[in-house]
Amino acid sequence: MRLSQMLFVTLRDDPADAEIPSHKLLVRAGYIRRIGSGVYAYLPLMWRVLQKVSQIVREEMNATGAQECLLPQLQPAELWRESGRWDTYTKAEGIMFALTDRREQELALGPTHEEVITMIARDLIRSYRQLPLNLYQIQTKFRDEIRPRFGLMRGREFIMKDAYSFNADEESLKKTYQDMYQAYSNMLRRSGLSFRAVEADSGAIGGTGSTEFMVLAEAGEDEVLYTEDGQYAANVEKAVSLPADAETSPFTSYEKRETPGTETIEKLCDFLKCSPTQVVKNVLYQALYNNGTTVLVLVSIRGDQEVNEVKLQNELTKLASQYGGNTVLKLAVPDADAQKKWAAKTLPLGYIAPDIADDYIQPLNGGTEGGSVHPQFLRLVDKTAVDLKNFVTGANESGYHVVGADWRKQFKLPETMVDIRKAKAGDRAIHNPEQTLKSARGIEVGHIFQLGTKYSIAMGATYTNEQGEEKPLVMGCYGVGVSRLAQAAVEQSYDQDGIIWPVAIAPYHAIVTIPNINDAQQVEIAEQLYTELNQAGIETLLDDRNERAGVKFKDADLIGIPYRIVTGRAIANGKVEVVERKSRNSHEIPITEVVSTLKGWISQAVS
Ligand code: ATP
Ligand code: MG
Repeated sequence: MRLSQMLFVTLRDDPADAEIPSHKLLVRAGYIRRIGSGVYAYLPLMWRVLQKVSQIVREEMNATGAQECLLPQLQPAELWRESGRWDTYTKAEGIMFALTDRREQELALGPTHEEVITMIARDLIRSYRQLPLNLYQIQTKFRDEIRPRFGLMRGREFIMKDAYSFNADEESLKKTYQDMYQAYSNMLRRSGLSFRAVEADSGAIGGTGSTEFMVLAEAGEDEVLYTEDGQYAANVEKAVSLPADAETSPFTSYEKRETPGTETIEKLCDFLKCSPTQVVKNVLYQALYNNGTTVLVLVSIRGDQEVNEVKLQNELTKLASQYGGNTVLKLAVPDADAQKKWAAKTLPLGYIAPDIADDYIQPLNGGTEGGSVHPQFLRLVDKTAVDLKNFVTGANESGYHVVGADWRKQFKLPETMVDIRKAKAGDRAIHNPEQTLKSARGIEVGHIFQLGTKYSIAMGATYTNEQGEEKPLVMGCYGVGVSRLAQAAVEQSYDQDGIIWPVAIAPYHAIVTIPNINDAQQVEIAEQLYTELNQAGIETLLDDRNERAGVKFKDADLIGIPYRIVTGRAIANGKVEVVERKSRNSHEIPITEVVSTLKGWISQAVS
């Protein structure tokens, strides 16, 4: 392609709304244009990158025996009602764009395709002989994200590869899952990314496991905890570790103490001269279940620990049926306004004890969202708080705590014991306490997931096994954010002058730059190389614009093409200058050897 004929516009200044380098660079270099919040146009250079990423993804999927298809983006509401996800997706998370057609039928724009694919499986899979089966598509997804940001990283319209496997049993699912794990590792390696596969939260669905593929970069929205021996890596949402040992309490007898101005653990420990490991902290949450019931949750946890809200939400989902619901729509620490809706009297915040009385709850108030409020606190105790002796905790009175307390003496130990502490960097690892957890930031580009029978049971997708019995299909699902992955590559590879594309996903391999288009010889050699390179399968741009050489070099650096060929002074000796974008190494290469040299370099870079 000739730059003189392309829509080629680069910008000198960073776009005002871009916060991270990759977003700034993709806009400045003319790869993407923002059309609306979380909605971007992929301009010709970007589209080439996306097609390259898609092709790598496709080849690795095909190599496992998966088959490509294309599913509809318009999805009937009934399907989502069958799986039980219509309310969660349109109301709770509110992530799904829903609409009503001219016949008053409700539809949604697909944020994901479990429902659609399960319907197909229900209709077409009859026998174990058809299994296992893995279908995938590469397609635009729609999600009404709460905070669309960072360009393609979190869009409201983005490209995903999603695959869904159908297996006869768990063992077969595990095999497909392993194949996907390998395929994902191959895709990311081939795309030139440095990544880590980490254990991930599989949420309320349960399932037997899920793995996220994280591209390591400072701008990542996720935190990964890992050990240096390579034996453990997990998303912080899922991570487990050994807590520090608790120190022995200095308080030997139970008494109430005046502790003015000690709403925080830090102030309290300063005041009482004790360790946070000797404190039972009681954290109040407000959970809204999908049937409209609000439940006030009191978590008792050791003072030096934080609650992992993802783990808490999973526990609350397990308990949902006790409250007549099946999912948690909202979970938050209630602020003053929220408390007004259910509190019968002012809560002694910062001084709450595990036994705070249920009469703080005013159940007749109409609830937080028009539903009811459960009249009793749901009391949970984290494992870290269970074995504490002579501990400090609130006295249910502002400005007072108790010291030297014990479970079963002064306080009833909550019946529901949970493990919901947040693992953090510096904690000892469970597999080997000599290893400590380290923290890194990651961009989640892929997620593979053993779903089990959640959708097949909900939607009645069964098959007949060898014994003639009817069984629910066992499912897995596997996603790659194609557009996110492309931007993540930039986040991992750029310098002050612009993008440095990994060769395998660069929009073009090479750019031939003519320093002076008024020099006939420069033009002639450039044209010749441009033709030869393209004929040899080296995707090449020709910068034939009537611009100063400096401008052309700057643009080539900005758009990040791996190899720049300059038909400058060296042509007098039958040579051209070839500069590698990544290393900035410059070589003078005989014109006749340019094609073969580049061929060699490129095939080495993408192997
Ligand atoms: P996240 O936690 O980042 O919101 P997710 O858990 O919702 O991701 P999945 O539903 O597993 O993601 O989707 C599969 C892949 O699609 C993700 O691993 C990610 O790479 C990509 N993806 C998800 N949401 C977006 C988005 N809003 N914009 C771009 N890519 C996305
Ligand atoms: Mg999401």
